[in-house]
Amino acid sequence: MKILVLNCGSSSLKYQVFNMDGETVLANGKVERIGMEDAILTHEPTGKQKVKKVSEIYEHKTAIKSVLETLIDKSDGVLADYSEIQAVGHRVVHGGESFSDSVLITPEVEDAIRKCIDLAPLHNPANLLGIDAVKEVMPTTPQVAVFDTAFHQTMDKKTFLYPIPMEQYKKYKIRRYGFHGTSHKYVAEKALDVLNLSANGSKIVSCHIGNGGSVTAIKDGKSVDTSMGMTPLEGLMMGTRSGDIDPAAVLYIMNKEELTLQEINSMLNKHSGLIGISGISSDMREIEDGLLANNESATLAFNMYEYRIRKYIGAYAAAMNGLDVLIFTAGVGENSPILRKQICDNLSYLGVELDNEKNDVFAKHDRVISSENSRVKVLVIPTNEELMIARDTQNIIGNQT
Ligand code: ADP
Repeated sequence: MKILVLNCGSSSLKYQVFNMDGETVLANGKVERIGMEDAILTHEPTGKQKVKKVSEIYEHKTAIKSVLETLIDKSDGVLADYSEIQAVGHRVVHGGESFSDSVLITPEVEDAIRKCIDLAPLHNPANLLGIDAVKEVMPTTPQVAVFDTAFHQTMDKKTFLYPIPMEQYKKYKIRRYGFHGTSHKYVAEKALDVLNLSANGSKIVSCHIGNGGSVTAIKDGKSVDTSMGMTPLEGLMMGTRSGDIDPAAVLYIMNKEELTLQEINSMLNKHSGLIGISGISSDMREIEDGLLANNESATLAFNMYEYRIRKYIGAYAAAMNGLDVLIFTAGVGENSPILRKQICDNLSYLGVELDNEKNDVFAKHDRVISSENSRVKVLVIPTNEELMIARDTQNIIGNQT
């Protein structure tokens, strides 16, 4: 079965085509600057040269048409005809309380995704545009929605509610939802596989540390707590996002600086975190360069970033009354031995002991980086949200036929 996986943003779209017999990637790519006359399609067919095309792409439908045309192109293509695509899997950011698993997209499901627009105003409309575009271009191809929030729907009420008047939850569903669920689920399953452990009885903390970052506590294979909340702003300090902050400080700043809602939102989401503290960059590579050069603001940003991750790991060990497996994934988690070392060296009280040599290896595969004696197993697992989406899509389509 060949499956197209789509991740539609407001002005961009990423795609991957999988052949599920063997789970191989046939091609991947992206369309950037949708809405502009100089939109860029970058296409990477496996085993062939990468191609870049610049053209007018004013809407998602045109973007998807261009992707499909490229997929069947005589020289750059990987399919004879796009009817070869048997299903399309979409990453959908917010499923609210309606979805605890991936689903076949029906008009009712589209309505439910639309109802979550208030909770994810930037993401869900783009996801719906992608679904609509596929419907127009490939009307008979089944589509599946895979939600970033679904894995965390197992959190219980004491964990997902904010301690504010209950009517806010009843009226507006103000609560913690959590994100990066597809990634946390994927790496947790992979780690259990690598360690040959059963999900039952396991206590895992997974750290998805990329531009955005979240930590999740996974007990018996289920998410029991996660650091992102109603939106992806809560929790860790991130590249450009503040993470946890006293809400009274937000009110104070708004009042002193006479900021609008949009301005404060932009400050907390785009100008805080690593870039806000360092004034240098939101990219961990540049922060590490600064750290190694003894730059004061880069060192402070790095130490704050690391400290906040470590505090969440400790909190989640407390939440689960123990910890067996600690996982690092995503851009920073997979590629920053220096960050992993500082975190792990300060978790010895939990029974974490790193193997420094293994930690220093740069590799693109799953690996254990703790010492033989470490009570807690520490792993680096490269995340693969697209494969997880393709697998869910295959399962759902398989169950329909
Ligand atoms: P996204 O949240 O956008 O999916 P990624 O998971 O791709 O992000 O992570 C991107 C981030 O990973 C970059 O901004 C950079 O900070 C970090 N990163 C990538 N490579 C390295 C590296 N070698 N060392 C440290 N950080 C890295």
